[in-house]
Amino acid sequence: MRSDDIPANAGAVLTVDLDAVAANWHLLAARAAPHADCAAMVKADAYGLGAEQVGPALAKAGARVFFVATLDEGIRLRRAIAQEIGVLEGPRPASEGEFRAQKLTPVINSLDQLARWRSSGGGRAIVHVDTGMSRLGLSETEVETLAAEPTRLESVDLAWVMSHLVSGEVQHDPDNALQLARFRSALAKLPKAKASLANSAGIFLGSAYHFNLVRPGAALYGLAPVDHSPNPMRTTVKLEAEILTVRWIADGRSVGYNAQWRANRLTRIATVGVGYADGYLRSLTNRGRGYIAGRSIPLVGRVSMDLVTFDVTDLPEAECRPGTMVTLMGPELPPDALGALAGTNGYQMLTGLSRRYARRYLGSAA
Ligand SMILES: *Cc1c(COP(=O)(O)O)cnc(C)c1O
Repeated sequence: MRSDDIPANAGAVLTVDLDAVAANWHLLAARAAPHADCAAMVKADAYGLGAEQVGPALAKAGARVFFVATLDEGIRLRRAIAQEIGVLEGPRPASEGEFRAQKLTPVINSLDQLARWRSSGGGRAIVHVDTGMSRLGLSETEVETLAAEPTRLESVDLAWVMSHLVSGEVQHDPDNALQLARFRSALAKLPKAKASLANSAGIFLGSAYHFNLVRPGAALYGLAPVDHSPNPMRTTVKLEAEILTVRWIADGRSVGYNAQWRANRLTRIATVGVGYADGYLRSLTNRGRGYIAGRSIPLVGRVSMDLVTFDVTDLPEAECRPGTMVTLMGPELPPDALGALAGTNGYQMLTGLSRRYARRYLGSAA
């Protein structure tokens, strides 16, 4: 019912299986081999799982290149691993020195960023070209400028030229081939360098998308890399929380704020100490599900800040008592499925996991 290694004062526990994360990395690395290396995307605290734990576990598994979104994330990850760390935002003015001090590899997203990197000393950098996302990266015009004025890259050691897919998870989306063509055209204009295009989904679009480095995030953490297709990845997280109280309520009684659910029979309600302040989204109101010993229980009423309520009338009383653990996310209900119930995706369910959960790391790298 409650594992021995869960702290006695913890009512909600997030278990992260680092062996499953490592196994997912191996599966993706094998798909990218032999031509492409497999990096690890550990931005947003390794998608909520904890970069300080996931980083070293993946380094041990063999990952040699890591990516984060921001300089601060890079600085924190640098304390945990010695491998290369690319920073997707690249340096803002005057932070170039910090990149060098921390041995972080900037991702250059504009000619202005490139000029600053050069004037601050140059060296190893990744150049991002925009092939359709229209967020970060050099525009086609900026790539033309760079091609016409190659001195702009003088003293810059071009580690990779990269781009990012718009809808790689939709296998037949015409944007994929279009971006591939635009990426190849940009590569042809720039000095010869290694290249990187694929996120998790891109790895499953075939070897034409692999180039020299793939950059999976989601799939490492167990999210499905391809829409409408069986998920080959292992689930890496389990979220469990304890029942605080159980009560019988009469036919017609409401549950929770604003009486968003009303009993239509004599009903047993179990209250669990997790809420939207934990990233358990309020949109799961009347739509979420929990599991007790593999049996599904419907979430009823509004998700509140620290509490959720389940209808446990159909379960034997002995199996749902104060102290019983309810699984809120895990193999029975993976983050993708919970995200679908909440009207969002698995990425948001993972990155929203609060620091309030007691965290337990399993696996040989834990
Ligand atoms: C987040 C991100 C990735 C990883 O994407 P997933 O879909 O999580 O695999 C790769 N490249 C860039 C530039 C990203 O921002």
